[in-house]
Formats: sequence, C-alpha cells, structure tokens
Amino acid sequence: MHKLVLKAGREKSLKRRHPWVFSGAVAKLQGTPARGETVEVWSATGEFLAVAAYNPESQIVARVWDWTRRAIDAPYFQERIERAIGQRRALMGEDGAMRLVHGESDGLPGVVADRYGDTVVLQLSSAGADRWREAIADAVLAASGAARIWERSDADVRELEGLAPVTAALRGAREPTRVTIDEMGLQFEIDLERGHKTGFYLDQRDNRQQLRALADGRDVLDGFCYTGGFALNALAGGARSVTAVDSSAGALETARANAKRNGRDGAEWIEGDVFQWLRRFRDQAQSFDLIVLDPPKFAPTAAHAEKAARAYKDINLLAFKLLRPGGLLMTFSCSGGVSADLFQKIVAGAALDAEADAQIVARLGAASDHPVALNFPEGEYLKGLICRVAGQ
Ligand code: SAH
Repeated sequence: MHKLVLKAGREKSLKRRHPWVFSGAVAKLQGTPARGETVEVWSATGEFLAVAAYNPESQIVARVWDWTRRAIDAPYFQERIERAIGQRRALMGEDGAMRLVHGESDGLPGVVADRYGDTVVLQLSSAGADRWREAIADAVLAASGAARIWERSDADVRELEGLAPVTAALRGAREPTRVTIDEMGLQFEIDLERGHKTGFYLDQRDNRQQLRALADGRDVLDGFCYTGGFALNALAGGARSVTAVDSSAGALETARANAKRNGRDGAEWIEGDVFQWLRRFRDQAQSFDLIVLDPPKFAPTAAHAEKAARAYKDINLLAFKLLRPGGLLMTFSCSGGVSADLFQKIVAGAALDAEADAQIVARLGAASDHPVALNFPEGEYLKGLICRVAGQ
C-alpha cells in the first residue's frame, strides 16, 4: 500500500477527523500512487491515521475515505451510499427531489448525487471520486432505485483537481434531457444538460417554503432568481407583485416556462445584473415589502473573502434602502469562504450604512438533505438571515 507520511504535529486535524490533508503537511510519499488511488496516511511518529484518495495536483493532496485500514472497493461505496440514502429515507421519506449524497458530510469526499424523479444527477469533483466513477454509479443506481444517472461533473473545483469537465448520460437513457419535479405543489423543470450545479438548488427548499409563508399581500423582489424558485413561491403565497432578476437568459427562459406550467404568470422577469438593477430601482424610488437576495458564490474559498464581502455589502445595503418600513430582507451567502459570523457582520454593516434600523428575525441554512458533518464545518456553506426593518 502507498503511504503518505505527515510532518511532525501535522496529524492534529486528522485526529479531529477533518478529512483533508493539505500538501504542506506531507513529509514524504512512499510508493507511486496514481491520481485518485488510495493511500494510507501515517503520522511522523508511525501512527496509522486514515485511508485516503491521493491527488498530487491538488492543494488538498489527500481526502479521507475511512479512518480504519479497510479496503476501498465497490462494496465500500455500496455501504456508504446505502447509508446516505437510508438516512434521507428515514428523515424525509421516499418521495421528492432531494440530495441523496452530500460529499464529505456523508463520508464521500467529492461525491454529490441529487435525485430528480427517476433520474439521479451525479457530480464527481475530486480525483478519488472520479477514479471510482463506475462503482459509485452502480451503487447509486442500486440504492436509489432510479432508472438512470446523468453525470454533471463540470464544477469549477474540478479544475483545481486537474480534472477535465464531464457531462454525459452515465447509466440508462440519455433522453429526455429535461425532467419536471414537484416541490411543495409547484412544478419546476430541470435542464439536466445545462442547468446550474446539478440542475436545481435543492438546498433552498425549506427557505422557499418559508418565503411562501411570508409573501401574502407583499410586493416581492427576487434578486438572482435562477429558474424562479423563490419568485414562484412568492406568487403561490399570495404576493401582490413579484419582480425577478437574473443575468442568465437560459435560466429566465426556464423560469418563464415554470411560471406558465404552474398557471402563475404574475411575475415580471428581468434579464440583467442585480447590482445594476438595485441601483436603478433606487434611482426610480421603487420600493418593496420583501426582498430575496440569493447570489452565486462570491467567495469559493477564504482567499476571496474580502472581495466577496464588498459585493455582499453592496447588494444588501441597496436592498435595505429599497425596503418599505416593516419590510423583510431574506438574504443568503453560499460562499464557503464566508462564515455565518462574517456574513452577519457584513449585513449589519450594510444596514448601518443604509441607515436602516433592522433586526434578525430568523437564521436560515440548507435543508436537512444537506447535512453538515460536525468534523467538517466547511460543509456549512449556505447561510441566510431574515431581517426586518423597523416600521413607521
Ligand atoms: N434562488 C435560486 C438560485 C439562485 S442561484 C433558486 O432558488 O433556485 C444564483 C443565480 O444568480 C444564478 O441563476 C445566476 O445566473 C445568477 N447571477 C449571477 N450573477 C448575477 C448578477 N450579477 N446579476 C444577476 N444574476 C446573477
């Protein structure tokens, strides 16, 4: 077995069961593992720590599969994937679109699987996951009972791993490339080939429901609306008006089709840049009762946090200015590099500069099919706040 031996003292994070080994922690490599192959990780004092997937091209040179000296093989993936899917079944039942496997937090670094009806979309973003593609696909197919698997391994993080993008039908029929799901009584079309991430932002399911409960009689602005997730829930919740902005023409095309499919044609869909439109609304003295801001990841890692903080502050400041007295701001960050603490500070700074007297009335996170392993705080990427500005 190939071996990675760590520098003295660098075993600490692994002993806390954090599953990443950074290249700077490695003293020496014994053997000649190929990219994605399994290695044993040992401390400088000769203590076995874990078995992990090796990737010399990544700063994260190894990602832990297991903390015991077990074989990493097809039965290993069957066991882990069955466990992940069984846990969802116990918590959320059989039905509905949901995340079946959530990477590190399910003990499967780099493996994400989302179920949309009888189709599972698989995203493999680490060298280890990539190497075990066939075993993972077989195990997901068997444990989920799905009819087919689409692979959407085209996230930017693959580049950091030295992996080329892959978009392909992996098991079962390639067609249709669009499927329709039901989320709390609303139908959404998922474009398997071109949709963002695996096609839909399942992590926002509970928050969309919460927005629906708050929307009655309000003028709602959905910034970064994608295919209409929040906007359609606002309409379903009785919003007086819905204005939805996104820069992606393809996403808006699907959003309009989703609105039609649900018999809800009350929204105004605007193709454009949210940063610019918020300013335009301000200059036109347009105001709203409820604003959702669900931007893309401005800070994929902590290195981007400063620039991201400016962007978050900018949009939240403008949103506070556009809110009527008593209005609500539902604001999110899905940046791994921005902690919940930092995000709250940014939003507080935005309110201060907007001269808004505001409170936090709820804290939001990802739905429970996106668990966060306690040994992997990085898994807590999505955080949100509902803020209320003071009434007159
Ligand atoms: N709230 C959505 C998900 C939003 S994802 C849901 O529940 O489904 C983020 C969206 O922001 C993407 O659709 C992307 O096209 C859009 N986007 C990224 N940068 C933008 C910008 N500067 N202005 C407007 N939209 C932007």
